[in-house]
Amino acid sequence: MSAAETHVAVIGGGVVGCAVAHALARRGVPATLLEAAPALGLGASAANSGILHTGFDSTPGELETRLILRAGELRAELLGELRLPVWRCGALLRPREDAQRVAVAELAENARRNGVQGDLLADGSLAVPGESVTDPLAFLAALAAGAAAGGADVRLEARVSALAGDGGAVRVSLAGGAVLNARAAVNCAGLHADRVAALAGDHGFEIYPRKGEFLVFRRSSDCLLEQVLLPVPSSLGKGVLVFPTLDRRFLVAGPTAREREDKDDWSVEADAHELVLGAATSMLPALARAERVGSYAGLRPAGRDANYVIERSAVLPGLIHVAAIRSTGLSACLAIGEHVVGLLAADGAIEPGEERPLALAAPPAVPRPWWRWASEERAAGRARAGG
Ligand SMILES: Cc1cc2nc3c(=O)[nH]c(=O)nc-3n(C[C@H](O)[C@H](O)[C@H](O)COP(=O)(O)OP(=O)(O)OC[C@H]3O[C@@H](n4cnc5c(N)ncnc54)[C@H](O)[C@@H]3O)c2cc1C
Repeated sequence: MSAAETHVAVIGGGVVGCAVAHALARRGVPATLLEAAPALGLGASAANSGILHTGFDSTPGELETRLILRAGELRAELLGELRLPVWRCGALLRPREDAQRVAVAELAENARRNGVQGDLLADGSLAVPGESVTDPLAFLAALAAGAAAGGADVRLEARVSALAGDGGAVRVSLAGGAVLNARAAVNCAGLHADRVAALAGDHGFEIYPRKGEFLVFRRSSDCLLEQVLLPVPSSLGKGVLVFPTLDRRFLVAGPTAREREDKDDWSVEADAHELVLGAATSMLPALARAERVGSYAGLRPAGRDANYVIERSAVLPGLIHVAAIRSTGLSACLAIGEHVVGLLAADGAIEPGEERPLALAAPPAVPRPWWRWASEERAAGRARAGG
């Protein structure tokens, strides 16, 4: 089979791959987005909290923090252009004991160092007005539609099965036999980014699933939350939060954080209800009486001893990894896209043009809220495979 040509092959249609494809399209660089699944967003990207973090609590100076902060600026620019669905509802951290007051005051100082507004209130709580919620599936769909409007070729059921160097280009083979010659390839394969790297003989990092489970409740006049409630973080992690959905109809509590091995196990485990509800009702007691309407789980693409692995492959010239984007990819993706364009341009693989707006006439329609969609799509996929 003869090989098709593209400038950049973007491997993986999660929010990171979509943002990379959009950043390329915005600068007039021909790109092909290759997604193995029958739909975009079926990895971590539509099975998360859907919070657009400000970076108030991120470690100053780290790459992850810099990208979250930069993404906030880019989001403001692209909000109208891509019709991004965002509710800037703000977040609140309320300390419940003296030790937590100290931790919250430290977080306020951290926010100040990152240049993020964080207001310490008289009762010791920290209000972060810039924290926002989105529908992560709708957010991703807007990026993909923007990329397509700029000429990106978005292909579904296009699983990358081999990668090889070919006279300065990258030869990308797909399951089913098609071959693509690209000047560069960007590995945005989420949980499977280590497998995609290994296709090129690159074993530089390992990705494992860190499961996060959520419970979904009907929002009612008895339980009317208008902002994100964040727990005071501890050595055990960021903890369970409670937040209203973008459509204001539901409240979501979660996630758990469980180190797992199985990259295909998206189940909500038997004790998740107890784990999540216990933590969530300590912040919002009325949740104990709210009607529970669903649950879902996401798998964070966590790097073994690594986070935000955004680097050139040490083995295959022209291949860039964008891996281990574990907990903040939705928040940082716009800046990740910009950063990757910079790497590709520095390598001479692309000559980005002037940025041009890729305005959408209307937000792309999504079939259902993400928290329902991802688990239903997976169940349908299992049923098809079984039948
Ligand atoms: C429980 C939980 C809560 C979270 N909360 C937040 C939050 O509130 N805010 C936030 O900013 N972030 C949050 N995150 C993190 C965020 O979801 C991730 O950082 C982000 O989704 C990672 O996106 P990705 O594109 O790298 O990976 P994914 O979304 O997993 O996408 C990777 C894609 O690559 C495809 N793929 C894999 N192998 C191949 C192949 N060989 N060929 C072609 N395609 C392939 C997969 O099918 C998949 O679609 C959360 C994550 C979880 C799980």
